[in-house]
Amino acid sequence: MASPIRLDSIRKEYSAAGNTHVAVDDLTLEIPAGSFTTIVGPSGCGKTTTLRMIAGLETPTAGTIHFGDRDVTDAPPQDRNAAMVFQSIALYPHMSVRENIGYGLKVQGVDEAERDRRIEEAAETLQITAQLDKMPSELSGGQQQRVALGSAFVQDPDVLLLDEPMSDLDAKLKAELRVEVQRLHKELDATVVYVTHDQTEAMTMSDHVLLLEEGELAQFAPPGDLFDHPVSEYVARFIGTPSTNMLPATVEATGDGYVLTDGQFSVPVPGDLFADRVGDDVTLGVRPQYLDRGGGSHGVRVRVDVVEQLGTEYVVHGETTDGSKIDVVVADDAGLATGEDFDAYFEPDDLFVFDDGGDTICH
Ligand code: ATP
Repeated sequence: MASPIRLDSIRKEYSAAGNTHVAVDDLTLEIPAGSFTTIVGPSGCGKTTTLRMIAGLETPTAGTIHFGDRDVTDAPPQDRNAAMVFQSIALYPHMSVRENIGYGLKVQGVDEAERDRRIEEAAETLQITAQLDKMPSELSGGQQQRVALGSAFVQDPDVLLLDEPMSDLDAKLKAELRVEVQRLHKELDATVVYVTHDQTEAMTMSDHVLLLEEGELAQFAPPGDLFDHPVSEYVARFIGTPSTNMLPATVEATGDGYVLTDGQFSVPVPGDLFADRVGDDVTLGVRPQYLDRGGGSHGVRVRVDVVEQLGTEYVVHGETTDGSKIDVVVADDAGLATGEDFDAYFEPDDLFVFDDGGDTICH
């Protein structure tokens, strides 16, 4: 049965040549039973280390890990009923696909008839039935990755851990395998934790996203919350494509209220949040999708650098008058050319405001 996974104050240090490196620091969160959670963040932020501690392949330096009520902090991997699939595919080259998928079951002593039944079920779910009697060398990269997923699937794990299982595949295969992984999740009664550095993958596949920043929790929330309610500038920059625009501004008192201004725009803001910040520098975050050429209450002048067509929409890459980089997503490029100026409007409700330490003041 799927278990919730609870991490309490997890820390992982690596020591090498007299130096200590903190890979994961004070990580506390509960992954709900049966959910699909993605761990995301830039290279080196501690994603794989976190996953390996959940798998039992690394022991935390401090803190505890529970699967449900069970403390598994020091339990070996084979005692956790967790299956893990890695980025680099680890199939046995001298065994057929059928033998590869069934190997774990054979080691556990499951009899042949039951093994075959489970192998065939997995193969059907992953659409590799026709490949069952082939050798790994006869398979494409995508098929090999399906076999690796099949080996995990047949074990009927409570916890399924996937470490960038698609990063070596091309875009089309990736899209296909994303669907397979989601189908697997639906068919298995398992809590799935998936590591990726691709935030689009994280946003589209999961119920919950854990974004890490240098080993620490930046935000753990459903994807929509990370998009609409980022707790920091770091989250707003990392989540969403193209990245959130950041515009510098200052808090000013106008006599009858408070505004954020850069000279061009002057956005009214509530006194309870800004009265004691008069004179402070802040950063406004506005998503490229929330900037509009058609009009709005506030605008910034944009000089066009490059216009990029993305399917049915266009991304205008440009610069504001004060030299900040800005991206605007528009439905129609209306013949915008490099060097031209236009006004991009936004609504105050669509803004994020960050203090000079990068924490969100309001969103
Ligand atoms: P990537 O996306 O590049 O795989 P990641 O977010 O998965 O990165 P980790 O592999 O967890 O990051 O590594 C976190 C930090 O810990 C990095 O600075 C890394 O160099 C360091 N690290 C990881 N494993 C070890 C190890 N076995 N010994 C020493 N340092 C390590």
